[in-house]
Amino acid sequence: MKYYDILVVGAGPAGLAAAQAAAASGRKVGIIDDNPQAGGQIWRGGPASQSDARARTLWLALHDAPNVEFLSQTRVLYAPAPQQLQVQTPVSGMTLHYQRLILATGARERLLPFPGWTLPGVTGAGGLQALSKGGYPVAGKRVVVAGTGPLLLAVAATLRARGAEIVAIIEQAPMPALARFGAGLLATPSKAVQALQLARQLRGIPYWTDSYVRAALDDAMKTQELQAVQVQRGSSIVTLECDYLACGYGLLPNVELAQALGAATHSRKGQTAVSIDSWQQTCISDVYCAGEGTGIGGVDLALVEGRIAGLAASGAVAETETLFRQRTRWRKFASRLERGFALRAEVLALAEDSTLVCRCEDVCHGDLKTHSSWRSAKLHTRCGMGPCQGRICGGATELLYGWRPAAVRSPIVPARVASMIASAPEETPDQQAAQ
Ligand SMILES: Cc1cc2nc3c(=O)[nH]c(=O)nc-3n(C[C@H](O)[C@H](O)[C@H](O)COP(=O)(O)OP(=O)(O)OC[C@H]3O[C@@H](n4cnc5c(N)ncnc54)[C@H](O)[C@@H]3O)c2cc1C
Repeated sequence: MKYYDILVVGAGPAGLAAAQAAAASGRKVGIIDDNPQAGGQIWRGGPASQSDARARTLWLALHDAPNVEFLSQTRVLYAPAPQQLQVQTPVSGMTLHYQRLILATGARERLLPFPGWTLPGVTGAGGLQALSKGGYPVAGKRVVVAGTGPLLLAVAATLRARGAEIVAIIEQAPMPALARFGAGLLATPSKAVQALQLARQLRGIPYWTDSYVRAALDDAMKTQELQAVQVQRGSSIVTLECDYLACGYGLLPNVELAQALGAATHSRKGQTAVSIDSWQQTCISDVYCAGEGTGIGGVDLALVEGRIAGLAASGAVAETETLFRQRTRWRKFASRLERGFALRAEVLALAEDSTLVCRCEDVCHGDLKTHSSWRSAKLHTRCGMGPCQGRICGGATELLYGWRPAAVRSPIVPARVASMIASAPEETPDQQAAQ
């Protein structure tokens, strides 16, 4: 049986910061992540190789700590009983026991349907970034980066550094909102410096504000290959030829594990996040949550929330005033981010009746818009019942139709039957005798 005093799910910035803070107490700390390396989304490829010194420092501290164990390629499937998690490893499954749990499961991209969004060559913005960081070749490819948020700039910089030709960055937010967001960066000088660095890296690339992709087009021969995108730019429609369209409309917190454990969540403007108190504690006394799971706020907020959660879970709650002040500052940044890049109504009205919304089960907008709830749509169309279990279409249907997702089902991610059998609880002699 594997037991940890404090178990952290997710080895992104929040999880690493939580684990480091918790490990200082001398307790036995476990960190689980389904990726081969720690680092989460932003430090993909491993924290040891990042230019951000915070990543390297965190990783070295954890790597050298005798009371910390990192379980990579380990995915949480469900919670069979209080203070237990059932996980899938590359070869099997097992049960992990804990006293305190810190959820740092991060976020995923929000994808919205528009005509042609399922064509090969159309990806999420962060999706193409992650692929290229993993070695997928983009050198010489013409890429349109579109959607909304500062992530588009980071994506374009990553792709350009790997040899892609960025045709344009298409930002749906209007210029006045962006100008207000830009002025607000003065309150967070490190973000202002980051923005200037990105501007330098992206020099020469057209940045169209107040613009959005209306459709991804294949060629006249209907080859099912992306040829171009049709962009609404102010009042005109422009066609841009490209090999890839990397399009994402912000991020959505990963809350499924928290929900499966019974933690309360709240929803605002199409975004559901885990509810926490000032110690990052959920409504379940031994379960904490930190980072993007509590709401989208960026790496700095994730780090400080992780640290508070780690300290709170290990009982080291003295001298946290500075951390609370930092968290307040980064939460204000998160609010400015939300206001600056609020979605415009037009991007929610692009799907045509024949546009697929649930791409796992091939369910289109015309079939869905007649339903009044996620449950009704699921029962009649199988929307959200494919391999992604609504992770992609759920974010879109919440915004397009106002549906709240139904309760989470276990396993929370697709799992091998073998790993669930291997990790099934053993029967006690009394149970065997009773049969
Ligand atoms: C696709 C994408 C690309 C991004 N790129 C950038 C960028 O270039 N620059 C930038 O500033 N910000 C980027 N961000 C935002 C960035 O992720 C956050 O600001 C920050 O990393 C959040 O840290 P976190 O620790 O909360 O979550 P994350 O970094 O997302 O880490 C969460 C970790 O939890 C793991 N996990 C989740 N569920 C489970 C489970 N059931 N079992 C096991 N492990 C699990 C995930 O694999 C992941 O490693 C990106 C976000 C996304 C979604």
